[in-house]
Amino acid sequence: MQKILQGAYTPNNKTNKQMSNKNLTEIWNSCLDIIKDNVQASSYKTFFAPIKPISIKDSILIIQVPSAFVYEYLEEHYIDLLRKTIRKTIGPNAKLEYSVVIENDTLNDGNPVTVKMPGKEGVKIENKPVTLPIEEKKDINPFVIPGIKKLHIDPQLNENYSFDNFIEGDCNRLSRAAGYAIATGQEGSSAFNPLFIYGGSGLGKTHLSQAIGIEIKKNFPDKTVLYVTAHKFQTQYTDAELNGNRNDFINFYQLIDVLIIDDVHEFAGKEGTQNIFFQIFNHLHQSGKQLIITSDKPPVEMQGLEQRLLSRFKWGLSADIQIPDFETRVKILKHKIYNSGIELNDEIIEYIASHLTNNIRDLEGAMVSLLAQSTLNRKEITIDLAKQIVDKFVKNTKREISIDYIQKVVCDYFDMTVEQLRSTTRKREIVQARQIAMYFAKTMTKTSLTSIGSQIGGKDHATVLHSCKTVNNLIDTDKRFKVYIDEIEKKLKL
Ligand code: ADP
Ligand code: MG
Repeated sequence: MQKILQGAYTPNNKTNKQMSNKNLTEIWNSCLDIIKDNVQASSYKTFFAPIKPISIKDSILIIQVPSAFVYEYLEEHYIDLLRKTIRKTIGPNAKLEYSVVIENDTLNDGNPVTVKMPGKEGVKIENKPVTLPIEEKKDINPFVIPGIKKLHIDPQLNENYSFDNFIEGDCNRLSRAAGYAIATGQEGSSAFNPLFIYGGSGLGKTHLSQAIGIEIKKNFPDKTVLYVTAHKFQTQYTDAELNGNRNDFINFYQLIDVLIIDDVHEFAGKEGTQNIFFQIFNHLHQSGKQLIITSDKPPVEMQGLEQRLLSRFKWGLSADIQIPDFETRVKILKHKIYNSGIELNDEIIEYIASHLTNNIRDLEGAMVSLLAQSTLNRKEITIDLAKQIVDKFVKNTKREISIDYIQKVVCDYFDMTVEQLRSTTRKREIVQARQIAMYFAKTMTKTSLTSIGSQIGGKDHATVLHSCKTVNNLIDTDKRFKVYIDEIEKKLKL
C-alpha cells in the first residue's frame, strides 16, 4: 500500500483524476493510522472515526464530517495534525476540503444535505530571521570561523488564542486592558514592563499572554516575539548547561523583543534557572524590550523564588485574572457556540454556566462534550442531556489540591499559623506538622520534591523525602498519628 501512496497522487498526475474508491479508502485509512497514533483514543472516536472520505482529485482530499461543529473543532484543534498527515500520505501539495452535513435528512438520492467548506491554510504567525552571534570557543575547529548564524525563531503562538476570542469581563478587565495597551503600543504602556498576570488554573492566563503576542505581531510585524513556558525554558537551560552552551542560551534569549514566560511559579526552587533568567530579564528590560510573565500567584505570595527576581516582577504592572461571574461565563459559552452551527437555547447555556463555576477550562470541556455527544448520537440537545454531561464532568474533574491549601488545612488542624509552619523552628509539633504537609503535598499533588520543599519553608528535596519516610513509618507504628493523617486527609478531600 505504501507504494501506491508514494508519488501516485502528486498534482497533474493523470491517474489522480479518476481515483477508484478503493484507493480513496486506502488513502484515508493510512491517514487514520497516523492520526490514531497522535490523538487520544476518545478524541479519535469522537472526531475522526465518523469522518467519511468523499473524493480525491488533484491532491485535494474531500472529507465528509457529520456537522459544522465537528468541522470547526477539527479546524481549531487538529488542523496541524491533519495538514501534516495528508501531506505525508498524499504529497506536499495536498489540500483538504470538507463536506459538512447540515441536515441529517437525506435527499431523494439518499445523500444527506451538505455544504462545502475550505480547509484553512492556517496563517502562521512568524518572526523574521535574526542573527545570533556565536561564542568563540577555545576548542573550536580552527577552520571554522566563529561568526553569525541566521536564526528563524518560531514565536510559538497559537492563532486561536487571539483577543477576538478572549471575552472581557470584570474578572479580567485590568489585565486585558493592560495587555491590549502594550500590544497596540498605546502611550504610557511602556510602564507596564514587565506585565505580570496572575490567577488560578484555567482562568485564561495562557490565552491572554498569547493574545498579547499575536496582537503585537499584527501591529509590529518586525518585532521578534517568543512565547515559552517556564517549564520549557528550564529544560532548555538545563540542556544548555549540560552541553556547555550557556552563553548561546543567553545570547538567544537576548535577541527577543517581546518575551512571554508562562507559569513562572515553576521556577520555584530552581536557582540556576532563576539566575540565568535574572540576567536575561535585566538585559531585556534595560534595552526596553517587553516582558510578559504569568503566574498562579502575585509576586508577594510566591514561594521559592529569589527576592531580587520577585522585586523585579513588581517593577511594572501586576494584574490578576479572577473567576468569571455568571454573566461572563454565559458570554464565553455563547462565543464558543457561535460558529459551531449548532443552536443551544439559553436555558441550557445558563444551566452549564451556573453549574461549572470555577474555571473556564471545565466550562469549555463540558460544552465540547455536549456538542460532540449530540452530533455523534444525533441526539437533540435537551436540558437532560446537558445535566448528564455536567454531572459527569463535575465528578470527573477532581479539584486540584494546592500546596497552599494543604498547608492551610494542616495548620488549622493543629491550630498553628502557616508562618509558623514555614518558619525554621525545630519545635517538635511544628516539625511534625511540616512533615505532614510535605507528605500530603507529595501524595496528593504532582509537584516535584524540590518545589514542595521550597514552598514549605524553603527546605531542600532531601528534607522532603525524609519527611515522607518519617510520616509513612509513623502511620505504620503509631495509631494516634494514623488518626491525625486520616482526619486531615478527609478534610483535604472535602
Ligand atoms: P490558564 O493558563 O490560566 O490555566 P488558559 O489560558 O489555558 O488558562 O484558559 C483555559 C481555557 O479557557 C482556554 O481554552 C481558553 O481559551 C479559555 N478561556 C480563558 N479565558 C477566556 C476568556 N476570557 N474568553 C474566552 N475563553 C477563555
Ligand atoms: Mg496556562
